[in-house]
Amino acid sequence: MSEETLFTRIVDGEIPSYSVYEDDTTYAFLDANPLTPGHTLVIPKEPYERFQDVPADLAADVFAVVHALTPAVEAAVDAPASTIAINNGETAGQEVAHVHWHIIPRFEDDGTGPVHALFEYADLDEDRMASIAAAIRENE
Ligand code: 5GP
Repeated sequence: MSEETLFTRIVDGEIPSYSVYEDDTTYAFLDANPLTPGHTLVIPKEPYERFQDVPADLAADVFAVVHALTPAVEAAVDAPASTIAINNGETAGQEVAHVHWHIIPRFEDDGTGPVHALFEYADLDEDRMASIAAAIRENE
């Protein structure tokens, strides 16, 4: 992969960032527009666009960093919780076409809710649920 993205430019140091972690495959840095103090982005250095584009072994490496950084991020800003999310694809709100995990520290008074607050519940009957489950199994 050689495609340049905003985030490869950050990894390469062309665009400055508040780096919090780096190894051979993975980079983590503070979001420039933090939703809460400590809002951190974790990326594979290679510019895969979406989660499912990332090879499984690399996804495991990056997720291990998300796992290790989450308590460090929470501790740094004294947060009792965090929301960890990927906007996976443009329709889901992904703005930078280089997959990134958001670690967003959460606070009692941060004025927002769970991920569930983004959605209305979908009204699905038993047949629809069963056919969706079958379709997922067929596509694995
Ligand atoms: P997305 O909407 O694609 O899930 O999130 C992209 C994130 O990248 C946003 O939260 C945005 O604030 C962050 N971002 C955009 N440009 C920059 C930048 O130049 N530096 C840093 N550190 N973060 C950026």
